[in-house]
Amino acid sequence: MRYLILSDIHANLTALDTALEAAKGQWDKTVCLGDLVGYGPDPNEVIDRVRALGALTIRGNHDKAVSGQADPEEFNPMARNAVLWTRERLRAENLEYIEKLPKGPVAEGGFNMVHGAFHDEDEYVFAPEQALDGLLSAPTPAVFFGHTHIQGGFTLRGEDIGVLRFKPTTGKRSSTLAIEPDMTYLLNPGSIGQPRDGDPRAAFAIADMEKQSVEFWRIPYDIENVQKRMAENGLPEPLILRLSFGR
Ligand code: ZN
Repeated sequence: MRYLILSDIHANLTALDTALEAAKGQWDKTVCLGDLVGYGPDPNEVIDRVRALGALTIRGNHDKAVSGQADPEEFNPMARNAVLWTRERLRAENLEYIEKLPKGPVAEGGFNMVHGAFHDEDEYVFAPEQALDGLLSAPTPAVFFGHTHIQGGFTLRGEDIGVLRFKPTTGKRSSTLAIEPDMTYLLNPGSIGQPRDGDPRAAFAIADMEKQSVEFWRIPYDIENVQKRMAENGLPEPLILRLSFGR
């Protein structure tokens, strides 16, 4: 079974559809690590698309805030503004859908899915010392996480922690990682809708646990098209600008 692994779509339909087109025919099942909404201009359209894909989806912190399960006051003012904007626009059945999303970790097809850290869905895993707890707790050789919007991850072999990062390039790209038998992996597919690793292209992964391989993809999409819709909807300027830089 080949899994398409999406995370942090953040209501960016253009990025999602471009990624889906690029990955067409390459996967059997879709999973999503949370944050369908927040920041971007297309919350209903993105939820509709994810539901149509039949994706196994866990909740992210923005999904919780928009559906009233977390306090938007804990967000920075721009993110809060986008949360409130999203809440006003979501159709009732889509609001109900994100409200009912399960909390990670969720096990599926030989791996586990979490939004943030293994034991805390709201915690960010940026550095090896933050990854260690999840690597030691992982019930499967691979755990996929999101939340940081940074493609890559962490490995553990014995007492050695490794960091996985990919160098930004241009055009389409996929890097293949071979899962080794004596290693544990905490892997982030990157963000579809708002990358923050200095590479503005949409990021996702395709995992084949039988073949023990994970492909990390980057796909350019029409960023200006999304920025235009964000501006028309009065979303905060810094959220519009950051898409150009992937920061
Ligand atoms: Zn996010």
